Amino acid sequence: KEEKEVIQKPSILGSLEQELHKRMLDDRIREMFYLVHSKAIENSTKTLMENQMISLMGLSAKLEKLEGSEDERIKERSKITERIMKSIEKLQNPESCKNANTLVCNLDKECGFGCQLHHVTYCAITAFATKRMMILKRDGSSWKYSSRGWTSVFEPISKCTFDEAVGNTESKPFADPSPARVVSLGIVDSLLTKPAFLPQAVPEQFLETLHSLHSHPPAFFVGTFISYLMRFNAETKEKLEAALKAIPFDQGPVVGLQIRRTDKVGTEAAFHALKEYMEWTEIWFKVEEKRLGKALERKVFIASDDPTVVPEAQKDYPNYKVYGSTEIAKTAQLNNRYTDASLMGVITDIYILSKVDYLVCTFSSQVCRMGYELRQPSGSDDGSKFHSLDDIYYFGGQQAHEVVAIEDHVAQNNQEIDLKVGDKVGIAGNHWNGYSKGTNRRTYKEGVFPSYKVVNDWRRFNFEALLD
Ligand code: GDP
Repeated sequence: KEEKEVIQKPSILGSLEQELHKRMLDDRIREMFYLVHSKAIENSTKTLMENQMISLMGLSAKLEKLEGSEDERIKERSKITERIMKSIEKLQNPESCKNANTLVCNLDKECGFGCQLHHVTYCAITAFATKRMMILKRDGSSWKYSSRGWTSVFEPISKCTFDEAVGNTESKPFADPSPARVVSLGIVDSLLTKPAFLPQAVPEQFLETLHSLHSHPPAFFVGTFISYLMRFNAETKEKLEAALKAIPFDQGPVVGLQIRRTDKVGTEAAFHALKEYMEWTEIWFKVEEKRLGKALERKVFIASDDPTVVPEAQKDYPNYKVYGSTEIAKTAQLNNRYTDASLMGVITDIYILSKVDYLVCTFSSQVCRMGYELRQPSGSDDGSKFHSLDDIYYFGGQQAHEVVAIEDHVAQNNQEIDLKVGDKVGIAGNHWNGYSKGTNRRTYKEGVFPSYKVVNDWRRFNFEALLD
């Protein structure tokens, strides 16, 4: 009871309003930077403006840490993570396997690792929202990534096996509510209506608290499920720790780049040159130098499905120490991806991406989004420690992501749309030039508007399975 009280009223923190304004200030400075950075302005003026904004961003980041309550915040965030984890564990490990309401999830969706894990995350969230245990079909023993199945790398997701929980019971297609003890969930794309619990919904039980503690509550919630699912087995843990040790994290910050190429380019995403990733990496290092008031050695970790990227970075950026997964990526390529080596390769990359100090990538890649999600429940607020060269964060199949206008806007040309304070806007993307694109729910008009005039309007859902 006492613990619940602390979670709901974190007295050591500033008021909710103060926290939100601090975050908005930080966001607005960044949006201003995007605007200036994208403009064709006379060179010396542009450099002066950018340097001034880098200084402002450093100051803003310093303020956050200077407040002295960061340790308390870490504790409060960790308490929420623990509360969600315990609730998932309870549901996943019922007293009786054969009587538990169960949701069956097919691990082997026809797509890559990130896409498959996101599918299992969708199953886990659905099971949690409908108070069912989630079981992998035949315990995930048939998996294109490993002949040894799910447990070749992860801990089992439940103490109950598929045979114990399902056995010969006929499973019905998922419905909510459903009287069937065992239901099977298809892929998210096959849903006719989107249930209210889908990402980016946040448990209403702690939306307000999380608002003051974290800059991206939905990613924090999704990330907790991914951390639960990706509990590595002993063998994997050992390999991951060795991979992590090879990068000197104890000697100053490391920026993680995830560069998605090969089959993705031209089909699902545009090509981005290494120089674009490095540009945002360098900006982050400059901001961090302002925050810390000292020079920093440049270090990057590069994850990619393209084995040419690491050697290119080593050759073209001699002032950077470049760490990367060249060998792993090569093995992944040679073996046509679906092997134990390629599985370990992508897991290692995602794991390291979840540990770096800042992430530069394309959020269109599920590999990068997983690295971003996995890092969120760690205790610190990593919600804005990234730069995406394309999409804003999303979860495949999610509920519409809406923002709400906090300032009026009058369209300046036929590309722009009007906003009135309080208007809801379905957001399509950020153009990273000071403007975002979306559809105004009041006027039904689609177009761009200054990003700084809106804030996120996260959906809330009552997850009854959350323990007190
Ligand atoms: P997406 O296609 O990038 O959205 O992500 P998916 O995970 O669905 O599919 C891409 C697949 O390509 C991954 O599962 C990996 O097998 C491989 N891949 C893509 N990016 C990387 C990377 O950065 N590192 C490694 N090791 N493999 C990658």
